[in-house]
Amino acid sequence: MSEADCIFCKIAAGEIDAEVVHDEDDVLAFEDINGKAPVHLLVIPRQHVANLEEIGGLPDAVVKRLFEVASAVAENAGIAESGYAVRVNNGPDARQEVFHLHMHVMGGRKLGMP
Ligand code: AMP
Ligand code: ZN
Repeated sequence: MSEADCIFCKIAAGEIDAEVVHDEDDVLAFEDINGKAPVHLLVIPRQHVANLEEIGGLPDAVVKRLFEVASAVAENAGIAESGYAVRVNNGPDARQEVFHLHMHVMGGRKLGMP
């Protein structure tokens, strides 16, 4: 399933370039184009779901896999020990910009809330 105008669907389809750091059947991870931390990666399901309200559209195993891949790419980036944040911006107050569910994996410096 994909959406014609969705930039992350296009990355998943290989139609737009990205610095891919992890590639498997249902989950992809790549560098954020406008990184806000020394390590700033995005983890996405290949299947298009817009936000957390639509997460029921993903198989349970894929939801679990998103977290496992977040952990794996953090390990590979060398920030597992120092720590990292996993964040989903969901909806207007969180300033969600891309309406294809994605997890930010950020680390390499001390991070604050929010
Ligand atoms: P948000 O929807 O608020 O979680 O933000 C979307 C994130 O996607 C931002 O951090 C952008 O820098 C990032 N982004 C947007 N377009 C691309 C792209 N073509 N490749 C990689 N990251 C992107
Ligand atoms: Zn999409």
